[in-house]
Amino acid sequence: MILFYIWIICGIISAIIASNKGRSGVGWFFGGLILGPLGLLIIAVLSKKEEEIEDKKIETGECKKCPQCAELVKMEAKICRFCRYEFKESDNKKFVPLIKKSGW
Ligand SMILES: [Zn+2]
Repeated sequence: MILFYIWIICGIISAIIASNKGRSGVGWFFGGLILGPLGLLIIAVLSKKEEEIEDKKIETGECKKCPQCAELVKMEAKICRFCRYEFKESDNKKFVPLIKKSGW
């Protein structure tokens, strides 16, 4: 019975780690549930899906991509914190269709 709880806990922890890394939390809950501690180990060593995290931030309008250095900066930023690129008003407009597309 204790083993049963360990497996469930593995599923929950896997889901938390997965969603923090921009991966499917639900998917990894079952992954952790089936694989147990092994699933936990796999998600722990898997790299972050930086691209998906970035895409999400752009979609929600939280961030925009700097056209010069391609780093993510806050939507309200006037100057890129990485390369000091100065955003123009027209740069912000470019990101609007992206937000609309995602259904927000
Ligand atoms: Zn930049």
